Amino acid sequence: MTEEVFRDDAYAKSCTATVTGVDESGIRLDRTVFYPTGGGQPGDVGALVRGDGTRIAIADTRKGATPGEVVHVPASGQPAPAIGEPVTAEIDWSRRHRHMRMHTAMHVLCAVVPYGVTGGQVGELRSRLDFDIGDGSLDKAAIEAKLNELIARDAPARPRWIADEDLAAQPELVRTMSVKPPSGAGRVRLLDIEGVDLQPCGGTHVRSTGEIGRVAVEKIENKGKRNRRVVIALAEP
Ligand SMILES: [Zn+2]
Repeated sequence: MTEEVFRDDAYAKSCTATVTGVDESGIRLDRTVFYPTGGGQPGDVGALVRGDGTRIAIADTRKGATPGEVVHVPASGQPAPAIGEPVTAEIDWSRRHRHMRMHTAMHVLCAVVPYGVTGGQVGELRSRLDFDIGDGSLDKAAIEAKLNELIARDAPARPRWIADEDLAAQPELVRTMSVKPPSGAGRVRLLDIEGVDLQPCGGTHVRSTGEIGRVAVEKIENKGKRNRRVVIALAEP
C-alpha cells in the first residue's frame, strides 16, 4: 500500500518518501503526492529528488496490481533508486492544477447536463464528457452560460466519505453509467460541490468552483443516436 497524500490534500505539491520497490514497471514509494491515472484523470508527471539533489524524471503514474499501490513510471534513461532510499516526490504542479480545475469543471458540467454519463476524459486544457441524452437535445450556448454561472458562484468543493450501504440506498448519486464507484472497502469517497453536484469520485479537485475560471464549450459532437460528447476548455489556462 502507498499512502496517498493527494486523497486528503490535493494541493500537496511534494512530500518526502522512501523507495519501497523498483522493477521494470516503475518505482514504488511508501507515500506519494503523484495521482495515478484513473477516473478519467491522467496520472501525474514530475520528479523524485534524491539526497544529492539529482532528479529522477517521472513520465507517468499508474495504479499497481494490488489496491492502493501507486507506480511511478520513470522517463527512459533515468537512473534507478535503491530500495530504502529517501527521496522527495515532486509533481508538475501547473499541469496537475489544470487537471484539478478541469476535473472540477466536469462535475459542474454533470450538474448542468441532466443525463447519464457514459464516459469522459480530463485533459490539461480541454476535457470531455459523453452523455446518453435519449430523445433529448443539448444547447451549446445555454450549457456554456450555465457552466460559467455555477463557476462564478464559487461554490465550495469538499471530499467526504459515505458508507457502502448508504450509497447503495442512494443510487441517484452515481452519474457515470459505465463506471461503478469502488466499494467493498466499507466506504466510498464523494465529492460534494455545495448546492451543485454530489457524486462518488476519487480524483483531485480545486477547493471551490471559482478557481476553475471561465470555461468555453468548444463543441458538442454526435456520437450515435443517443450519445453526445461535450468538449469544454479552460478559457483562462
Ligand atoms: Zn471528481
